[in-house]
Amino acid sequence: MTRIAIIGAGMGGLAAALSLHKGGFAPVVYEAAPQLAPLGVGINILPHAARELAELGLLDALRGAGVEIDALLYRDKWGRPVWQEPRGIAAGYRWPQVAIHRGELQMLLARTVTARLGTDAIRLGHSLTDLETSACGVSARFANGETIQADLLIGVDGIHSVVRRQFYPHEGPPKWRGGSLYRATTLLPHKFLEGRSQLWAGHAARKFVAYPIRHNPETGETLVNWICDLNHGIVEVPAPPRQDWNRRADIGDFLPAFEDWNWPDINVPAIIKGAREVYEFPMVDRDPVPRWSFGRATLLGDAAHPMYPIGSNGATQAIIDGRVLAYHLATAPSLDEGLAAYEAARRPATARIVEMNRANGPDQVIELANQRAPDRHDDLEALLPMTERKQIADGYKKIAGFDPATLNARPSFDPRAR
Ligand SMILES: Cc1cc2nc3c(=O)[nH]c(=O)nc-3n(C[C@H](O)[C@H](O)[C@H](O)COP(=O)(O)OP(=O)(O)OC[C@H]3O[C@@H](n4cnc5c(N)ncnc54)[C@H](O)[C@@H]3O)c2cc1C
Repeated sequence: MTRIAIIGAGMGGLAAALSLHKGGFAPVVYEAAPQLAPLGVGINILPHAARELAELGLLDALRGAGVEIDALLYRDKWGRPVWQEPRGIAAGYRWPQVAIHRGELQMLLARTVTARLGTDAIRLGHSLTDLETSACGVSARFANGETIQADLLIGVDGIHSVVRRQFYPHEGPPKWRGGSLYRATTLLPHKFLEGRSQLWAGHAARKFVAYPIRHNPETGETLVNWICDLNHGIVEVPAPPRQDWNRRADIGDFLPAFEDWNWPDINVPAIIKGAREVYEFPMVDRDPVPRWSFGRATLLGDAAHPMYPIGSNGATQAIIDGRVLAYHLATAPSLDEGLAAYEAARRPATARIVEMNRANGPDQVIELANQRAPDRHDDLEALLPMTERKQIADGYKKIAGFDPATLNARPSFDPRAR
């Protein structure tokens, strides 16, 4: 049996383990944390990742744990509609878009890995420190003193990846765009907007994003995930030290920027004030690299292509990476050819998303609305025609791989389904 070591039990590592298992492999996942805890706030699983989770037999569990999204609303800083589109099944996809708590999805994936691959398939307390890779295998060392040998190692250890640093020792810290993302959840006593809608409001320098991640039909309560994104326009400076990431923030640091965003159907300041804990996070990514695989080690997820959290593609692309990797490893004549095919399929595709997110991704529609119609009395229709708004939305979906017609028609990545 091919020995495959996955480094990191985040969304990407766990989904890759399930994908590889479906492809006939029995990988082992090594995770630095001593315990898996449901950390984070909300994430989106877009239809192209929901498809992969459906083919892994997890669609009902995904739907049960999150909220199926059926609309995306873009508004300007005055609350005026700029763009609106159906999402998920309502947009004609065969698979839904689900907004879910990151920690809940991670725990669901971890339980499934343990159930399918065995209780020993996730090894906690294994923080990778370094590795040696050759044409026929990898030797990996952990901070607990253990050393393992594998035929293939997959680095899914996030934006601060040790595996990536081994390949690119001079890359340095992630790139910071300047400014902060303030992230939290607030429990509302009622539904949010129409119940299954997401809101993106403002512009690149001052943005409010909110969407439901849990709804209790008995009490009517909704848990809303929200992000206040304040960008001061500083480009390409070093990110704040890592110990300051996920710092508890005071709402007084950013509430004034949104104080007057109180519209008939959404009271932004009230949502902000209703949060229990707010976390501050820098807006960071990394430049695309020219190569992911070195000998028998490769990169996947945020370790391979960390991107700005714009366009809701971080977890989605990590899940797709694992499925594509498993498909090629299961169907190529050799591990090396499988790795090459994976990289050829995924590296250029994800690099384009990193670049597009730097240009605001689909949020460019509200950025252009703000640039061209900064006054509330400006004629938005004349200054930003609806055809241009549609081009932005459709163009992003094509680049990020979730144009509805293409996704619905493309063959499965399941090796046994082709
Ligand atoms: C604590 C946390 C909270 C997050 N919260 C959010 C959120 O609220 N919203 C959102 O959109 N995205 C969030 N993200 C990012 C999001 O999960 C990723 O962008 C996306 O899911 C890609 O997943 P990934 O598996 O590539 O990386 P990650 O989800 O970052 O997972 C990487 C995993 O590797 C482990 N690891 C790191 N270094 C080592 C090492 N040396 N040895 C072994 N294991 C290692 C980490 O502990 C982690 O479990 C969060 C990430 C983390 C780690």
